[in-house]
Amino acid sequence: MTDGEPTVTVGDHEVHGVGLDAETRCTHYASERDVVAIRFGCCDTYYPCFRCHAAVADHDATPIPEAEFDDPGVLCGVCGTALTVRSYLECDHECPACGAAFNPGCVAHHDRYFDRG
Ligand SMILES: [Zn+2]
Ligand SMILES: [Zn+2]
Ligand SMILES: [Zn+2]
Repeated sequence: MTDGEPTVTVGDHEVHGVGLDAETRCTHYASERDVVAIRFGCCDTYYPCFRCHAAVADHDATPIPEAEFDDPGVLCGVCGTALTVRSYLECDHECPACGAAFNPGCVAHHDRYFDRG
């Protein structure tokens, strides 16, 4: 494993974090399927995970409010498509644009990223 990068650009989107690879894996989540980055409500910036946000940002993380679930919020690190939060939540762990497999274990952390009210 290499040290990775503090920022990568995927599609038109810049992703910040710790130890990133070209498909937005990070130091904390680096399996084959850990290829999404999530936009944080606080700073409108994509990070691969909440631990990256905690390490790099200078403020507390705020999840995306439900009112913005139809806006782009989840970036596929494989094809660079920014999915809406809703399409990500309904995609059954597979990118609707390119078919890449997403880590189903992320569901356990959704409350940190998506505020369902
Ligand atoms: Zn933030
Ligand atoms: Zn991370
Ligand atoms: Zn994709």
